[in-house]
Amino acid sequence: MGQLPILVVGGGISGITAAVEAAEVGAEVILIEKEPSLGGRVAQLRYYFPKLCPPTCGLEINFRRIKSNPRIKVYTMAEVMEISGEPGNYKVKVKIRPRYVNDNCTACGECEKVCEGERVSDFDFGLRKTKAIYLPYPMAFPMKYVLDKDALAPGDLERIMAACKYNAIDPDMKEEIKEFEVGAIIWATGWKPYDATKLDNLGYGKFTNVITNMQMERLASPWGPTGGKILRPSDNTPPKKVAFVQCAGSRDENHLPYCSYICCLASLKHSLYLAEQDPEAEALIFYIDIRTPGRYEKFLRRAQEEARITFIKGKVAKIEEDPETKDLIVTAEDTLSGKKINERVNMVVLALGMQPSIAGMEIPGLKVDENGFVFYEEGIIGCGCAKMPLDVMTSNETATGAALKAIQIIKRG
Ligand SMILES: Cc1cc2nc3c(=O)[nH]c(=O)nc-3n(C[C@H](O)[C@H](O)[C@H](O)COP(=O)(O)OP(=O)(O)OC[C@H]3O[C@@H](n4cnc5c(N)ncnc54)[C@H](O)[C@@H]3O)c2cc1C
Repeated sequence: MGQLPILVVGGGISGITAAVEAAEVGAEVILIEKEPSLGGRVAQLRYYFPKLCPPTCGLEINFRRIKSNPRIKVYTMAEVMEISGEPGNYKVKVKIRPRYVNDNCTACGECEKVCEGERVSDFDFGLRKTKAIYLPYPMAFPMKYVLDKDALAPGDLERIMAACKYNAIDPDMKEEIKEFEVGAIIWATGWKPYDATKLDNLGYGKFTNVITNMQMERLASPWGPTGGKILRPSDNTPPKKVAFVQCAGSRDENHLPYCSYICCLASLKHSLYLAEQDPEAEALIFYIDIRTPGRYEKFLRRAQEEARITFIKGKVAKIEEDPETKDLIVTAEDTLSGKKINERVNMVVLALGMQPSIAGMEIPGLKVDENGFVFYEEGIIGCGCAKMPLDVMTSNETATGAALKAIQIIKRG
């Protein structure tokens, strides 16, 4: 294979797939990920639609493929600052943040036990806190702790260092800048949830029991903040009636002008999570159109058979809170009957759209469209949700295609 490696930016399912596919046919691969662990958003999901299997199986297999392949070099807490050059010959400047924990770490957890300082868990979308020294998630790769120095309580550092038998804590680690020479770049930086606080009428951030679809995934996860029980945040009781607000941000010229592709499927999946916990629980899905493309139509039928779902065709106009019960009143117009609806529910889930994770950022050398999705270019190939909103299966297909394109470019030299 050609002399220069392939750089894969983003260690979610798309980046991981592109990296292993390219490396397993002989390419050298550098995989960089901005978070302390690989896995991306799928590591935060309870189950995958349509099969309702946990994403952990696929992740574990892929982590093993990476571990056993000496051609893949992984850098976590790393981000691209600048790209220059041309297809076949790029220079990429990468910033690597300090982890303050070295490779001696065995993830024994003794440090965490003595640490008093806490930080809000971004992995759990603010639904709980972790210690200042924490494992990103139970099956993180690399299986190493990370230290958030800003969250340390007085005396924590001394206690943590004394508790670590492996000499793994290194508070003197510094930020590093590395320059890589690569032949092709696969851009797989994925997506982030649209900022729900921008949807003024939907009450996110004002009313405790208005949550997002990704928070719902964390509530349903056995290693999430509630140990897998779906409980409404205000009083930790299981909700009996939940409203799902579709197109929260998507298909709206004032927010995300495109369809986020997976939100209808995600809400159907969430209604099955509810049914699994309480077969009597009701889901009300407020929608513009239910989009379950291609073979996913079968999943719609399955959800309709297994869960108590009422579909209401109408955009939600506003959400108000009953200050006493913390229930929510959802107002919408049912466009089929023409009637105004005021539904009292225990919890609301906003089916937030997916926005490119790099939206609003400028990375010299990288071309993006007006929404932040990467443009196709000869040597910089986008895949997964960095390219467009996608499900996992299609993300993986685009990642495999990107690996092939990148191999062709480095072979040409
Ligand atoms: C509520 C919800 C439920 C879903 N459920 C399902 C489901 O059941 N089944 C299904 O098929 N799909 C589901 N999806 C879609 C699924 O999450 C995506 O298809 C999948 O995450 C795409 O993977 P990705 O690798 O392209 O992006 P991501 O998962 O976003 O991974 C991108 C990676 O790149 C990293 N990164 C970001 N910026 C940088 C940077 N500048 N430098 C380096 N690294 C960076 C990120 O930290 C991340 O690790 C769901 C989506 C939502 C919103």
